[in-house]
Amino acid sequence: MKIKVAKCAGFCFGVKRAINIAENALKELRPGDKIYSLGPIIHNPQVVEELFKEGLQVISSLEKIKGGTAIISSHGAPLKVAGDIRKKGMKLIDATCPFVKYAQNIVKDLKKEGYGIVIVGDSAHPEVKALKSIAGKNKNLKKIGVISQTTQSRENYINEIKKILSEDFSEVKIFNTICNDTSKRQLATRRLLEDCDLMIVVGGKNSANTKRLWQICKESGVDSFHIETELEVSKNWFRGKKRIGITSGASTPDSMVKKIIERIRRF
Ligand code: SF4
Repeated sequence: MKIKVAKCAGFCFGVKRAINIAENALKELRPGDKIYSLGPIIHNPQVVEELFKEGLQVISSLEKIKGGTAIISSHGAPLKVAGDIRKKGMKLIDATCPFVKYAQNIVKDLKKEGYGIVIVGDSAHPEVKALKSIAGKNKNLKKIGVISQTTQSRENYINEIKKILSEDFSEVKIFNTICNDTSKRQLATRRLLEDCDLMIVVGGKNSANTKRLWQICKESGVDSFHIETELEVSKNWFRGKKRIGITSGASTPDSMVKKIIERIRRF
C-alpha cells in the first residue's frame, strides 16, 4: 500500500500569520491580563485547544467581557466589532488574513462607486458575514460587483458567475478573490485523486476550505473520508486499497498529517 500526501499540505500563509500573532500576544501577557479570540482564530479545533492552554480564550460575543485584549480571527470580523472593542477600552489585535483584507477592500471600493455587491460563499461563515457588513444593503440592482469567499472552489464560483451573466444587469464587474493557497490546494488534491483509490481529507470539520477539498474528493467518486485527528482513522477503510492519498486544509498542522500516516502504517 502506497501513501501519498498532496503538495501544498500544511498551514497556509494566513493561518501561520494568525497563529504567530496570537503566540506573540500570549508571550507578552502579564499576570492577570486576559486575551480573547472572537470566534476560533483559525478553523482547527486541535490548534485552538493548544492556544487555549496557553491562555487564548475563544468568545462568541463581547457582551460580558470587560477589559483585556481581543484578537480578530484570520477570517475577519463584521465592521461593528472593531468599534465595539474600542468602545470597551480593550486592546485590539487584527489577525485578519491579508487575502481576506484584499476582498474587504474590493467591497469597500465597489460600495463607494455605487455598485450592488454579490458575494459567492457560505453566508454563515465569519469571512462572509464580515464582507456582508461592509457591503451593507444592495441598492443598485443594475450595476453589480461580484466577489467570492477566499476559500470557494473555482468550479462553484465559475458556475455562479455564469448564472449572474445570464441575468439582466447593465454592468457586471467580476473579481477573483479566491486565494492562491486555496486554488493550489484544490489543484493538488485533484491531481492526487487521479492516482488514488482512497482519499483522506484532514482538517477542521468547521473549516470551509477543508470542506471544499472533501466535496471535490466526493465528487470524484474516489472513496473519501474527512477527519480531524488520527484517532478517527479506521482499519476497515483500507481493505483492498492500494494507493492512499492524504490532503489537508489550510489550518491543519503538518504534525497531524504525520500522526495519521504513522497510524495507517501501524495497520
Ligand atoms: S486560506 Fe487563503 S485566505 Fe484563508 S487564511 Fe489561508 S491564505 Fe488567507
